[in-house]
Parts: sequence; structure tokens; C-alpha cells
Amino acid sequence: MSDDERADGGRRPATYDQARWTRGDEYEPLLSEKHGERVEVDGPLPDDLTRDELELPGPSEPELARHYTRLSQMNYGVESGPYPLGSCTMKYNPKFTEDVAALPSAAVHPDRVDERAQGILAAMARLQDYLGRIGGMGAVSLQPPAGAAGEFTGILVARAYHEHRGDERSEIVVPDTAHGTNFASAAMAGYDVVELPSGEDGRVDLDALEAAVSEETAALMLTNPNTLGLFERDIEEIAHVVHDAGGLLYYDGANLNALLGQARPGDMGFDVMHFNLHKTFATPHGGGGPGAGPVGVREELAEFLPTPHVREREARSASDGASGERSDPRAGGGEYEFYEPEHTVGKVHGFHGNWLVLVKALAYIARLGDEGLADASAKAVLNANYLASQIDYEVPHGPFHHEFVASAGDQDAAAVAKRMLDYGVHPPTTKWPEIVDEALMTEPTEVENKQTLDDLAAAFDAARRDDDETLESAPNRTTVRRIDQASAARNPRLSWQALDEE
Ligand SMILES: *Cc1c(COP(=O)(O)O)cnc(C)c1O
Repeated sequence: MSDDERADGGRRPATYDQARWTRGDEYEPLLSEKHGERVEVDGPLPDDLTRDELELPGPSEPELARHYTRLSQMNYGVESGPYPLGSCTMKYNPKFTEDVAALPSAAVHPDRVDERAQGILAAMARLQDYLGRIGGMGAVSLQPPAGAAGEFTGILVARAYHEHRGDERSEIVVPDTAHGTNFASAAMAGYDVVELPSGEDGRVDLDALEAAVSEETAALMLTNPNTLGLFERDIEEIAHVVHDAGGLLYYDGANLNALLGQARPGDMGFDVMHFNLHKTFATPHGGGGPGAGPVGVREELAEFLPTPHVREREARSASDGASGERSDPRAGGGEYEFYEPEHTVGKVHGFHGNWLVLVKALAYIARLGDEGLADASAKAVLNANYLASQIDYEVPHGPFHHEFVASAGDQDAAAVAKRMLDYGVHPPTTKWPEIVDEALMTEPTEVENKQTLDDLAAAFDAARRDDDETLESAPNRTTVRRIDQASAARNPRLSWQALDEE
């Protein structure tokens, strides 16, 4: 054993020093600070629409390139190292999807009429079809711009379905391990939320479920595998309990990366689901998006989906008997069209959703194909189980799917997580779900190889062995050190103007 190896026999972690571009106490200045010169504007616009001065920055190309490169070096991303942020599926996004999204033909004004956007509509219809097949759903709307928006939309669809049947229901059941957005979406859609306590093993407890479900239950929202990375083995019985009470089963698709090509929510009995394209299907996320949270429903719920919806023209003429000129593609129509589902919940986003995110998902799914997707989820599961087996932490329950939740025990999970940055690892998700003490929710994803997983394990273990003083001041090797999280959350200053006004 070399001197470099730790006396306690643990693997030696890598260390990481983040770039620090400073002048005195100042970090890399904003472009507007460097180039705040005022540009006089004298144009034909009406007076009430013009300003006397317009503050436009004027850097040269190399200055611009260096500015953004420096900013990226002072940040941590999926291209810096592993990013095991549990439940968020932060994986490296293959660059070819960006190339596809950057094709000139993908840049279309959203107001272009269907006849002149047939290629775009065909792409949307194809993605709807792919997602429907991956999820086992009869119809898919691409409109919601995020997972949370998909949840809200899906619950609106469930509400519209019940109301259409003259069945007023007032409650949504949500397990205590669920993501906070589940509670929020149910409440925003006007429901009372019934929290379902998990069983000893971290899964849904069937007795507790029986007790929570009633004729007031509009839906149960479930994440499967759940946020502990555990598959709900009783899913068929869970579906029976909810359906027998007349409720619907909602699938939170944030953890779909564990199931791709292996199992389908629709086959498990789920009626409504969302996909997080920015987690599972190749869009970088964090820092507010953009993302996409398409909603899938079983066939009987299709007419409640948001409007407009893309479909093949023939499908319309078959379903509502319309025929004649408009259904003939040669009569000036084209094969695809937007239509308004009969009992639609309305619009949930401007135009047709975040189109370029949709393009990336389509490119990714088409490139990987059935086998590639199944292989990705198999490796995601293998990686999570391997990493869980390598770290010196208490890891309750198992075997896992794509993620696991380790407990930092008597240490502060947030401090342990921040310390990992010094070892070149993005912190895992911390302190959630609350049913695990000092939780470190960890999702390595399929993109990491064994060497990286071993490095990750070394970082976990090194942080675990660091003393309290080190942990309390961590991170020490990053550009920005320990920040005041409470002030950042309560008193955010989100623009350079806000800083200027200090
Ligand atoms: C990320 C996540 C959501 C919300 O998705 P967004 O796209 O961030 O709005 C919902 N549920 C779970 C389990 C998640 O991890």
C-alpha cells in the first residue's frame, strides 16, 4: 500500500480544485459591467414604446468566449464529473441531440399553420407514439413544460374524467416518500391531499392504502420505483384497491430511467402518467429548465388531454366520421393536424410545449431504439446497486433500482454532500425522503463506468471520515464556498440590476 493510500485502508479519493477567476474581491465581472456603454436609439417607434437609452454590452468574440468559458469553469456540471443527484437523473446528454435540435429546419415559428409544418407535426406525432409505447399509454400530450406541470395536467385530466361521469371526488392520496410537487399539484388542482405513510420496508403498505382510499379518492399518485429506489412489488394489488374504489392511478415518471424497455406503467395498471424528458431523455436540466413533461393517458382518457393535440388526419376521419375534402391529404391538408380533444382540459402552456426539448428526446429515443433504451436502464440499475454495495454507509433496504438512499447517520447529510464537491463529485440529493435519517439520495445513472463509480465510492467514504470542522466549512476547493442558503432562498437577487440597486 503506497503512502498515498489512506491509513484506514479506504480508497484514495480524487481531489478537485475549481477555477477561480477573480480580480481583488471581485469574480469575473458581468458583461454589462465590462461593457455598460449607453447606445442612443433614434428610431421610428412610437414615443411610449421607446427608451432614450439602451444598455447593450459590446464585447468582442474572444472576450465573449472567454467570459462564458470562465463562468463554466466556476460551476460544476455533468461534463465536470459524476452528478449523482438522486431522483433528478442528471446524466450526460449526448451531443448529437443538440445537433438535431440546432438543424435550421427545427426552427419554426409556432404560429406556422399545420399545412406548412407537416414535418414538425410528423415529428410530434412520432414522439407521442414512442412515448405511448414506452409508457404503455394510449395517447400522449407533449404540451406540459416540466414534470410538475405534467402532474398538474394529469390531475386536471383525472378531475375532468370524474366530473364528466358526474362523480365528484375531493381527495388525492400521496405516499410520504413522494416528491413535493405531487402534493402541490394535487392541491393546485383543488384536491385535499391524503398522505400515505410508508410501510417498514419503505414501500406502500396495503393496509394503510385500504384505510386511505374511499369514494372520495380521485387518484393515487405513485412513483415506481419509488424515491428510495424500491420497486412497488404489490403494484397490481395497489391498482386493484384504487380502481375498486373508483379512483385512478397516476404515475410520476421521474424515475422512468429505471424501467425503460423493461416494464411499462400502463401494464402495471396506471391510467395517467408524466414523462420528464429532461431527466430520462437527453435534455440537460437544473437551474430552471427548459424541460418537458408530456402526459400519457390510457385510451379512455384521451379526449380530456390539453389542446391542441397532434394527430394523423385519417385518425380523425375514422373516429368522428368526418370525411371529404379536409381528410384528404392532397386537398391542401397534409397528413397531420392539430385538433381539440372533445372534453379537453384546455391549454396548459403557450403554443405546443418546449419544442426543441421534444426534438432532443425524439432524436435520443430514435438513436437508442428499443434495445438501447433497455440497455440504458439495465446499466442504471446495475450502477446503483454496485455503488450501494461499495460505500461505507448504512443503506437501508434493497436491492435497488436506479437509485438508493444512504444514511449519513449522526453526521449532517448536507455537510457530507457539500464536502463531496471537494472530491470532484456533485452532491447527491439530501435530507429527502424524510423517512431516512440524514438521507443521501444517490443516482449514479447508466453513463458512469466502473472507474468513475469507484471514484464516487471513494468520495463518499472520504467525506464520511472527515472531521466535523472540515465538514462544517466545506466545500473548500470550489470557487464559491459555503453559502448562506437561508438568505439565498428567502432573499434571492436574481438579476444584475438587483445587485446594482444595493
Ligand atoms: C423531478 C421530480 C418531479 C418534478 O419534475 P420537474 O420536471 O422538476 O418539475 C416529480 N417527481 C419526482 C419524483 C421528481 O424527481
